[in-house]
Amino acid sequence: MSAKVWLVGAGPGDPELLTLKAVKALNQAEIVMIDDLVNPAVLEHCPDARIVPVGKRGGCRSTPQAFIHRLMLRYARQGKCVVRLKGGDPCIFGRGSEEADWLAEHGIEVEMVNGITAGLAGATNCGIPLTLRGVARGVTLVTAHTQDDSSLNWPALAQSGTTLVVYMGVAKLPDIRESLLAGGMRADMPVAMIENASLPHQRECRSNLASMQQAAHDFQLKSPAILVIGEVAAQQQIQALAEIA
Ligand code: SAH
Repeated sequence: MSAKVWLVGAGPGDPELLTLKAVKALNQAEIVMIDDLVNPAVLEHCPDARIVPVGKRGGCRSTPQAFIHRLMLRYARQGKCVVRLKGGDPCIFGRGSEEADWLAEHGIEVEMVNGITAGLAGATNCGIPLTLRGVARGVTLVTAHTQDDSSLNWPALAQSGTTLVVYMGVAKLPDIRESLLAGGMRADMPVAMIENASLPHQRECRSNLASMQQAAHDFQLKSPAILVIGEVAAQQQIQALAEIA
């Protein structure tokens, strides 16, 4: 695995949701560059690797993306086996493709390994079937947080008949609520807000579109959380098996 960077999804938090391929890459890694949302418990699969945190949270200033790029390149050029470990899936609001393109432009081989994205894990852990037959004809993953402040086409989303899964939405709840109401979504459309999905301290708050902001406030909803907006958010089907004994 020399002069190669593995862009690996670490899943939503539960270490048992890592893929076998992710475990294989971690086993071989010499350098592991991790984001904040990665559960450190997954590092048990790379006890001898050097761990390089490059997260953007924790009160520190962001690690600039350009710095992360250069660091990956430097390690890869040293012939090290580098794993760039990202929360969830590397390409779902994770800049995985930007990093892959940049490395490829600099002659580094890249291999991408999927991870289970937080939106899917959160819904499943709360018994919400995102595309329940006869209820939701699809699912749309969106972020409320944009680099350029451009706006989503909220009326189209409101009327799409698909379940909406919103990432990075906690700070934008008032905007999301207003935009969907203005776009024609029913005020009593069910909403589920899921914090720390798949982790032991996962919490969920059920509400509806009109009251979700107040509900989140009362619940003291904190990031990381995903919002599931749509008819299926009223479902509470049999819980996924959290652990297989
Ligand atoms: N690539 C990641 C998403 C990164 S964007 C993935 O595929 O899951 C960061 C956002 O993801 C957070 O603001 C939150 O909305 C969501 N998120 C990540 N981990 C989460 C978790 N364990 N529980 C709930 N939301 C999570």
